[in-house]
Amino acid sequence: MMNTPLLMTQMIERAEKYFPKKKVISRTDRGIHTLTYKEIAERTRRLASCFEQFGIETGDRVGTLAWNHHRHLEAYFAIPCSGAVLHTINIRLSPQHIAYIINHAEDKLLLVDADIVPLLEAIKDNLTTVKGIIIMTDGELPETTLSPVFHYEELIAKGNPAFEFVTDLDENAPAGMCYTSATTGNPKGVVYSHRGIVMHSMALGLADMAALSERDVSMPVVPMFHVNAWGLPFAGVWFGTDQVLPGPYFTPKILAELIENHKVTLSAGVPTIWLGLLKELEENTYDTSSLRAVICGGSAAPKGMIKTFEQKHGIPFMHAYGMTETSPLVISSSLKSYQDELSDEEKYELKAKQGVVVPGIEIKIVGKDGEVKPDGKEMGELLIRGPWIASEYYKDDRTDGAFRDGWLYTGDVVTIDEEGFVKIVDRTKDLIKSGGEWISSVDLENTLMAHEAVFEAAVIAVPHEKWAERPVACIVLKEQYRDSVTKDDIIDFLTPQFARWWLPDDVLFLNEIPKTSVGKFLKRQLRQQVKEIYAK
Ligand code: ADP
Repeated sequence: MMNTPLLMTQMIERAEKYFPKKKVISRTDRGIHTLTYKEIAERTRRLASCFEQFGIETGDRVGTLAWNHHRHLEAYFAIPCSGAVLHTINIRLSPQHIAYIINHAEDKLLLVDADIVPLLEAIKDNLTTVKGIIIMTDGELPETTLSPVFHYEELIAKGNPAFEFVTDLDENAPAGMCYTSATTGNPKGVVYSHRGIVMHSMALGLADMAALSERDVSMPVVPMFHVNAWGLPFAGVWFGTDQVLPGPYFTPKILAELIENHKVTLSAGVPTIWLGLLKELEENTYDTSSLRAVICGGSAAPKGMIKTFEQKHGIPFMHAYGMTETSPLVISSSLKSYQDELSDEEKYELKAKQGVVVPGIEIKIVGKDGEVKPDGKEMGELLIRGPWIASEYYKDDRTDGAFRDGWLYTGDVVTIDEEGFVKIVDRTKDLIKSGGEWISSVDLENTLMAHEAVFEAAVIAVPHEKWAERPVACIVLKEQYRDSVTKDDIIDFLTPQFARWWLPDDVLFLNEIPKTSVGKFLKRQLRQQVKEIYAK
C-alpha cells in the first residue's frame, strides 16, 4: 500500500474543493454569522499567511483563548496547516494555571477573544514567550494594556487568500496540544499529531460511533478549548458537515433556539449541559425533531436523564467516554442489533454504561496487582492504547506513571461485561473505600438523579473512624421541591436499590455543586465544603 501521510491540510482542502457551499453558522456576542466553507477556507489561508511576519516557524506553538466560533475554527486549521502547533487554552482555568500553560508550551503568539483580554492583562507580566496578540472580535480593538496587539479581521484582510498550506510535513508532526485541567499539581500537556487527528476524525464518521456525515448539522457545545471540542470541528470540516458554533455565554435557551432554527442533527457536551437543556425543554416548547444524536461524555450520564431525553423528547442519546490524553473518543454506546429485543429497562441499563471500544483502539483492565482481569464483573483500572492515544505528557518529567509498557493508565476504575460494554465505576480517587470494600459514587449519583425532586447529586467520601470512609450525598433539589423533600425521603428511595452498607450516612441539601472548568463535579472542593459544614 502507499504510505501517504495523513495531514490536516487534506481536511480543509477537501471542504474547500468539494463542499464550498456548505455552511458554518457562528454565534458571537454581536449576532449570528453565516460563512460557507469556501469563505472559511479562504480566510484560513489568509490567516495562515500571516504567521510568518510574527516569526512563527514549523513546530512553534500558537495559543488560542477563545469560545466556539468561526474565527476559532479558522485558527484550528490555519495554525497546523502552516506547520505550527494549535495550542487551545482552557480559559476557565485559574489565571496562574493559564500563565503556567502558556509559558510551559512556549506559545509565541496568542489569538484571543476580546472578552478574554482582561484575563490576559492580569497575567501579562508573567508571560515569558509571547511576542504578539491577535484579538478576535466583530468590533473595534478594545482598550488594552497588552502589547503588541493586532486586529484579526484587519490582519487577515491583508493576508494572502491563495496561500499554499504546508504539506511537506511528517504525519507524526505535532498539530495540536491541550493541557488537562489539573485537579492536583500543574496541568499536563498532551500533543496531538496530524495523523492522530485525522485517524480520530475518521472514527467520528463510523456508522456505529457518531456517524458524522455531510448530511449532519453538527453543534459542538463542548468548548473548543476542551479536547478540541471532542474533535467534531476537525471531522466536520473534512466531511463537509454544516456546523453551528454556539459562541460565548450561551444559555440552555440559546442552545434550544440554535437547535430549532438551524435544524441541528448532532450535538455534544457534558452532562451538566444536557441537564440544563432538559430543564429548558420541560419549561418551554421547541422543535428539536431534527436531532438524531446527543453525545454526552466527560462524566457519567445518569440513566434517568438518558431516559427522559429519549422517551419524553424523542431525542436519541449517545454516551461516550474519553480523556484529553485520548483525543478523546475511546468508547461509545450503540446497542448491538440483537439487543433491540431487550426490555426498555435493560436497554437503558446498557445505555447508561459508556459502551464498546471504538475500532482501532485496544483496552484492557488490570487489578491492583497489575494482573489483567478477564472481561466480566471484576473491576480494575482501564488501560488504553491506539493511534490517537498520547504516549507521554509534553516536557514533563513527573513519573506518576500514566504511560507504562505501551499503555495509558487512565486512573478510571471500570468493569467490562460479557458483551464488551465498559462501565466507569469511578475515578480511582473518587471511589469510596468503606471497610475495605469499594462503593461507587457514580452508581449512587446516577440513581439519585433519577429521583424526580433531584436536579443534581454528587456523592463523596467522608473520613470515618471505623470504616475508613463513608458516603455522603450532596443534593441540589429542583426548585419546586426545595421545602418538601427530606433526608429520609432520599434514603428511602435508595434503600431498595442498594446493599445497606452502600447507603449514604448523610444527605446534605446544597444550593449548588461546585464544578470544574469544563462543568464536571469538582469533588475536591465539595469534600472541603462538606468538611467545613461538619466542623460548624
Ligand atoms: P479532566 O477531567 O481531568 O480535565 P478530561 O476532560 O480529559 O480531563 O477527563 C477525562 C476523565 O473524565 C476520564 O478519565 C473519566 O474519569 C471522565 N469521563 C469521561 N467521559 C466519561 C463518561 N462518559 N462517563 C464517566 N466518566 C467519564
